[in-house]
Amino acid sequence: MIYDCELICDIVSLYIDEALSEKSRLIVDAHLAECETCRNYYQRYVEQNTAEPVVDTGTKMALDLAVKARKYRMYQVVMFAVAALSFCTFGLSWFGYTGITEISGFVIFHHPLAMIGIILFTVAIWYHFRHAGRRLMMGGVGISAIILIEIWAFFTIRTGSTAGFQIGPFHYDIPIVADIDFAESLRYTLPGFYIAFVGTLLTAVLFVLFVRQTKRLGEG
Ligand SMILES: [Zn+2]
Repeated sequence: MIYDCELICDIVSLYIDEALSEKSRLIVDAHLAECETCRNYYQRYVEQNTAEPVVDTGTKMALDLAVKARKYRMYQVVMFAVAALSFCTFGLSWFGYTGITEISGFVIFHHPLAMIGIILFTVAIWYHFRHAGRRLMMGGVGISAIILIEIWAFFTIRTGSTAGFQIGPFHYDIPIVADIDFAESLRYTLPGFYIAFVGTLLTAVLFVLFVRQTKRLGEG
């Protein structure tokens, strides 16, 4: 062998890229034909450089994350639109009494808990998708508070007697359940209440689906 193996191995990449001069190429050809060591080296070199294209995992992960974030944003917008629509129904009349102005569902805002519930629920929708647990907890507590206050309002703004008390600027009426006349109560309840109540329940169900769906984005 005229040429040193080390020298041949050094230029093997140029040989593969066809960047060698005709003369050099013939030298490498001749060497590879008779040297098994260099032939093996050449073979390995070709395999390593033509098999899997080297994936930049960092870039791939960033791209994955961007796709997930966009998907999540879409779910968030839908979830928020449904929740906002449902909360808007609180503007409908809940109760009507003869000779008295109808009472809308905004009565629930007399209870700070309902407002805290709405804030918590809204934050839960816009929370980062990596934290499914926190999102579920905040949203769950938020929507539960709203449902609780709806039921509370349903019983307190009633014909039954209540025991009222004041905390700061907020007045509470605890229904005296034994005194509630259900037939009378139902008579004064307007469709607005049922629309709002069913709307809140559907929002809660949709929220659970939203969290389940987006949880996978955070895990995968
Ligand atoms: Zn050799």
